[in-house]
Amino acid sequence: MCQEVGQAVQLALSRRGLLKAGAGAGMAALSLMLGGAPASAATPTASADDGAGFDTRLVLLGTAGGPAWFPGSTRHGIASALQVRDLTYMIDCGDGAARQLAQAMMRSRADPHPFRLLEPLQALFFTHLHSDHVVDYDNLLLQGWTAGLGRHQPLVVMGPGPRGELPPVFQKPGQPPVDPPVAFPNAPTPGTAQMTEHIFRAFATDLNDRIRDYLWPDLRGLVQVDDIALPKMAGFTSPNQTPSPDMEPFEVWADAQVRVTATLVAHSPVFPSFAFRFDSEQGSVVFSGDTGPCRNLVRLAQGVDVLVHEVIDAAWVDTLFPPPLDETTAALKHHLLSAHTSIEDAGRVAEQAGAKTLVLSHVIPHNLSDERLNLAGRHYSGRVVPGHDLATIGVGRRRAG
Ligand SMILES: [Zn+2]
Ligand SMILES: [Zn+2]
Repeated sequence: MCQEVGQAVQLALSRRGLLKAGAGAGMAALSLMLGGAPASAATPTASADDGAGFDTRLVLLGTAGGPAWFPGSTRHGIASALQVRDLTYMIDCGDGAARQLAQAMMRSRADPHPFRLLEPLQALFFTHLHSDHVVDYDNLLLQGWTAGLGRHQPLVVMGPGPRGELPPVFQKPGQPPVDPPVAFPNAPTPGTAQMTEHIFRAFATDLNDRIRDYLWPDLRGLVQVDDIALPKMAGFTSPNQTPSPDMEPFEVWADAQVRVTATLVAHSPVFPSFAFRFDSEQGSVVFSGDTGPCRNLVRLAQGVDVLVHEVIDAAWVDTLFPPPLDETTAALKHHLLSAHTSIEDAGRVAEQAGAKTLVLSHVIPHNLSDERLNLAGRHYSGRVVPGHDLATIGVGRRRAG
């Protein structure tokens, strides 16, 4: 969920006069709008299998979208893990993801010693740098230091490079133009490598204490961080004009177990914003990242075994913006919907791609019922799995014998 969601909620709050009622009432209303408290509606109904008998397994670590806490929710921030035999690959690292990963490792390891939990973690891929996809990264690094992170070989971390130019300022139609301040104007759009460097710098006191006093290996040497280099793209002019030009998928990583390809998706103004495809010997999984319906994603996901797709409930958005809509509100609503995918459109995308299973994750609002998520099946002939935290789904072929 992007910054326009925050703008939208602020606007909706003020439209309803709730902000005038004071911060307490305003925040309570905000909670209701983002999906309300306790998630009785979001009870897992595991149409997911448990992954038993599969060498490649998808584990949903967190299934909520958006930069907010949802007290009482069954969902943590967006993050997923792909287990291929004994190795694990992580995709995004939202709120609570590090603990969820540790939990998943406890379940899947025959020897779940807390100091060795992260030894199987090979690589971490960021779809984009919105906070709801990266906010637990420092936790994963610093706590993972005691859990075997990078012990046998450095953890590979790959994600977007620097955006290169600031996104445009959202100007409210019919109102005077605004020119908000720029945070850190000398480096306002860092990429994954620079973000990681900043995290290490922020925690230098802790790093030096443990390196000198405990004689731990330097944490910086336990990760290998790379910005994903973009290929030449015929239709690309600039991040603000063509953030997701029509393109062929390109390879970002390969090892003995998986090949990872990527494409740019429609999550403007975020750039770059990736979807990833993982192909193993047994099967394939695509992670949509955050996106509106997008040809690049359909191309990437052709014939995939499992498509993990983000989703926003358009009916919930309608409740945020009750008619009549003025020009500003209509523009905000359009902005929000075009950067994400409705439940039914997620089904259409899966159908166009010929995906065998559609797993719905990055759920907005967080307390959507399985009944509503299953509406994706209206336009999709494959299996729909409403995503829930720590659900495990077998991918592709079962293990022989
Ligand atoms: Zn998001
Ligand atoms: Zn996003």
